[in-house]
Amino acid sequence: MIHIMEAPKLYPALNSTTSHIESEADNEYPLMGLTPSLEGQLAKQGFRGESVFYTLFMILLGGSLTYYMLGKALEPLNKLNYQMKNTCVHNLAEDIEVPQTKDEIGEITESFNDLTHKLNASFLMQKHFSQNAAHELRTPLAVLKTKVDVFKKRKNHTPEEYDSLIEVVETHTERLSELVKNLLEMTNMEAIELNQTISLHHLLLDVVHDLDLLADEKGINLLVSGEDVNILGNYNLLHRAFYNLVENGIRYNCESGLVNLSLQDRKEKVIILIADTGIGIPDDMKGSIFEPFFRVDTSRSRENGGAGLGLSIVKSIINKHKGQIVVTNNKPCGTVFEISFNIERQHKDS
Ligand code: ADP
Repeated sequence: MIHIMEAPKLYPALNSTTSHIESEADNEYPLMGLTPSLEGQLAKQGFRGESVFYTLFMILLGGSLTYYMLGKALEPLNKLNYQMKNTCVHNLAEDIEVPQTKDEIGEITESFNDLTHKLNASFLMQKHFSQNAAHELRTPLAVLKTKVDVFKKRKNHTPEEYDSLIEVVETHTERLSELVKNLLEMTNMEAIELNQTISLHHLLLDVVHDLDLLADEKGINLLVSGEDVNILGNYNLLHRAFYNLVENGIRYNCESGLVNLSLQDRKEKVIILIADTGIGIPDDMKGSIFEPFFRVDTSRSRENGGAGLGLSIVKSIINKHKGQIVVTNNKPCGTVFEISFNIERQHKDS
């Protein structure tokens, strides 16, 4: 059976045969049309409404759940962020609580605590350094001020009194300028280039030559021995370092003592020993000897004019040349400073 329902309406110009078939069909099946029934339309609308509602409901539910879960997951991170924001220079020593969970956030917290410890140590060191520097600068200034104040109180002075004042002013201004020079040297070392080929044997001979007079005054013998080795570095800096060490060897020596400088060419490194027969350094102080402003005996060092910066500068210079310095006892008495440079990295030329 053929059902053609809409064709006549759509194509009114169809031939009579077609019209005939249509009229027959119309009689047999009353017009059904494409428009759905009222119930159908209502059901369809209801279905649409429900789907929109359920879709929105699912989106809202899913969104809220995701928001809640993300919030829970990010809670430790937010807490850590809050604690990090509240960390400042005044509470660097306080640890942030490390979460018990062994996850990435725990690791980040531990790393952050490590970082704040290092920063705190560095801040403390700087604070200590500035305090010491201020103290060292204040002392000669205070002496100068007192001397001048006392001098001003009387009108007439003898030539001896003038000379005495000038001597005090000279000594303390020298001390001040030496201190300022040392402080500047310590801070300006970074920019210096290490590209000179230096014969260590010649360098030690130069140092000994420069300190000859001081050694003679104290009746100290200076000896240089060992093979020559070349290293890459900065001549002036290394001269300064060895000068300080040998000068200390003379200053803290005994009458008719000896300062022995020896070079040892080992396979991968060169070792320079500076051994004196002096008063020695107590074992419990050897660890602090390279700290800025450290003195074993404050009164004794002041007589010699040192501010306790010499060995600190020496260590900075040696470290800048990727070398190492250690201090040990000499036998039967005195001190040995052992400096080593790795010559594999610094072209051994001889
Ligand atoms: P200073 O300018 O006071 O000598 P240094 O940094 O050179 O400062 O030395 C620090 C301290 O180490 C000195 O005050 C001194 O007590 C001690 N010292 C350094 N070298 C020697 C040495 N060769 N023998 C004995 N003591 C030394």
